Amino acid sequence: MLSYQHAYHAGNFADVHKHLTLFAVIDYLLRKDSPITYMDTHAGRGLYPLAAVETARLGEYREGIARLWQVRARLRDDPLLGDWLAAVGRVQARDGRLDHYPGSPWWLSQRLRTQDRVMLFELHPGEHSHLAEQALPGRVERVHGDGLTGLVKRLPVPTPRLCVLLDPSYERKAEYGEVVETLLAAMHKARHAVMLVWYPLLPAGHHRTLLEGLRDGGLRKIWRSELTRHAPGTRGMHGSGMLVVNPPWGLDARLATAMARLTPLLGDACRYHSDWWVGE
Ligand code: SAM
Repeated sequence: MLSYQHAYHAGNFADVHKHLTLFAVIDYLLRKDSPITYMDTHAGRGLYPLAAVETARLGEYREGIARLWQVRARLRDDPLLGDWLAAVGRVQARDGRLDHYPGSPWWLSQRLRTQDRVMLFELHPGEHSHLAEQALPGRVERVHGDGLTGLVKRLPVPTPRLCVLLDPSYERKAEYGEVVETLLAAMHKARHAVMLVWYPLLPAGHHRTLLEGLRDGGLRKIWRSELTRHAPGTRGMHGSGMLVVNPPWGLDARLATAMARLTPLLGDACRYHSDWWVGE
């Protein structure tokens, strides 16, 4: 059963955390010329008009991207936040007005060079049709199918470098374990890949299955970053988590600087924390 639609949540605080981290990783990878394959196992639509019925209904972007957009001139001096907000500006229909928010397919393809490629997986037929309609620059392949099995099946890739985003909706509890199995299988076939995994922080704490499964699976170099909006309540997502396997050198410091600027804008109780979940 697939009922999750990212359009209801596009541009929220978790998207800001996820896409800023992804942007910072890509920025490091682009410092070298060697070709990169990007894979997005759970792509969603690609670009979200904020006035769409679904997105306007919950309006979660108002407590996410909109808070940063309002003060973007003040954030320009932070190299990461400044560049990231300038990139958000490139998808707006009209200068100065926030009317769209880009999803991971756009973030992965926005700086594709001729030697790079991106592969996007989306299982939901309706979401995949939206994705198929998006104009994305560069060598982009869109697959209507399961991103977890699709990723492992396509490894190793023909390029020397690989960067993967795994961003399930976790509608089923079993997905936490499936992500662990997929990641272990994928890292076995592509040991030097940079893999990013997003997970929600929910009162039930099911993300521990993911964290503990990866640690017990024997992977090394797993960096963790968590952005919390408030203390865990009885329901609802209180935070957003990211794991990066094989993070580029310097990622931690660069994100910490950006997050120190960003967290007070997202709310008084908002906190950021990062550490090595599994070291070298
Ligand atoms: N990565 C997107 C972004 O950052 O803009 C958001 C993706 S959303 C959290 C998860 C998406 O995965 C949904 O569009 C859902 O339809 C899709 N999905 C769910 N299970 C899937 C699977 N096994 N393979 C591929 N896509 C799947």
